Amino acid sequence: MKIFRTAREMRAWSRAQRAAGKSIGFVPTMGALHEGHASLMRAASERDDVSVISIFVNPAQFAPNEDLDQYPRTWAADLALAERTGIDAIYAPTASGMYARDYSTFVLVGGVSEGLCGASRPHFFRGVATVVTKLFNAVEPDHAYFGLKDAQQCAVIQRMVRDLDMGTEIVPMPLIREEDGLALSSRNKYLSPEERKRALCISRSLFEARAMLEAGERDAAVIKEAVRDGMSPTDIDYVEVVDAASMRPVDEIRGPVFVAVAANVGVTRLIDNILFEPESPKS
Ligand code: AMP
Repeated sequence: MKIFRTAREMRAWSRAQRAAGKSIGFVPTMGALHEGHASLMRAASERDDVSVISIFVNPAQFAPNEDLDQYPRTWAADLALAERTGIDAIYAPTASGMYARDYSTFVLVGGVSEGLCGASRPHFFRGVATVVTKLFNAVEPDHAYFGLKDAQQCAVIQRMVRDLDMGTEIVPMPLIREEDGLALSSRNKYLSPEERKRALCISRSLFEARAMLEAGERDAAVIKEAVRDGMSPTDIDYVEVVDAASMRPVDEIRGPVFVAVAANVGVTRLIDNILFEPESPKS
């Protein structure tokens, strides 16, 4: 497995692969890798001829009061997991290599980035879109795999790639959970045993919402109220039912939607969602 620290080295390797006729699959990550990341890495290594992950804790997507310094860094374990899932190369640039002291260029994606996490973390999607653009410029991937754990992020990246005519196809991948339902996240490492138990009310509430939707409930207000009630042991940031493509809130569920939530458990901010696709009405 190759490790590259600069965009120039990364690009040279990618271009040599492409010149040899190989497709390149890419999984951007912030490290502290878990089975959610592993599902993306396996998909990249199975579906593409060569696969690359990036490990970079991106300062541009953290506000000054957020957890940039505490974010878990588990380099040796990350390398071992990448190796086991068949990854061919890791791109792990340094923060100073990515952002020169006078760095001044950012990518802003309107619309889809504005609600949900974009409302609570106004800096966040500008940082994500900017770093993903830089990573794509270094890796030049054919396919990039993104988890629906971060459904809004996936929509933002899809919109950016479409609007800016980037040549990479975005492949959305299912959200992976622990056996008891908790969505896998690098930030779960912050939870004490008591907080982890409390956090389970998040996925339980979403499963309850799914059961209501499957039973025919179509009023978003009713769904949101049930989810809010179920999540009361946490400090709720948002509970929304949004159109799966535009990420705009809906009142009535007529097409594919995400029920998306964010909450603080102690000092840890967790996000989760379910995707619901109603069967199209029979004609
Ligand atoms: P992160 O390292 O948290 O920035 O995540 C890197 C990629 O892994 C993103 O595309 C995430 O959506 C994806 N990911 C993180 N957690 C999960 C999960 N539980 N299931 C599926 N994908 C995930």
